[in-house]
Amino acid sequence: MSGLHFEDEAERLAYKAWRTLKLEPPADLDRVAEKLGLVVEYREFVPQIDGFYLRLPHTPPIIAVNSSYVKPLERRRFTLAHEIGHHLLARRISNPERLFFLDTERGRRSVLERACDRFAALLLMPEDLVRSYFAELESNRSKRVAVMASRFGVSTWAMRRRLRELGLNLWDKRRGG
Ligand SMILES: [Zn+2]
Repeated sequence: MSGLHFEDEAERLAYKAWRTLKLEPPADLDRVAEKLGLVVEYREFVPQIDGFYLRLPHTPPIIAVNSSYVKPLERRRFTLAHEIGHHLLARRISNPERLFFLDTERGRRSVLERACDRFAALLLMPEDLVRSYFAELESNRSKRVAVMASRFGVSTWAMRRRLRELGLNLWDKRRGG
C-alpha cells in the first residue's frame, strides 16, 4: 500500500468516526476507543514515551498513554487519537494476531506514523468545524487560535499546524510587512 493510500484511508476513517458516533468537539476519544473495543490505560512512563498500541491473541487490544506530568492533557489526547489510528489502519491493511507500536518523541516518521498523525489531526480537528470556527472568530484574531485549540482540546501548536494545512491564513495581509 502506498503512502498516499495510507493518508486517504486515515482521512476516511476519521470522517467515518465523526459521522457514525455523532461526535461533538472536543471529540470524546474514550468513547471512540470504547466503541472499537479498545482498552485504554493511563500510566506514567519515562518522558521519551508518548504511548503504545499492543495487540495480542485472545485479549482486547490495549492502548497505553503516558500520563506523566510532562505530558499535558492535549498531548495525551493527541497520543490517544494517534494510537486509535494504529488500530484502525492496521486492521484495514493486514490483520496480524500480534502487533506492537511504540511511540516516542524522537525517531524518523514512517509513512504509517505520518498517517496515524493525520488520522489524529482529523479526528480531533475536522475540516468543516475548523473552517466554521475560523470564520466565526474573525473579529477576535488575537485569541482565535487559543479559543479554537480549547474547543477542540488540542495544543495551540497542533491548532496552528492544522490551520496552515488547510491554508487558513493566521496573519492579516493588510497589515503588511
Ligand atoms: Zn505511532
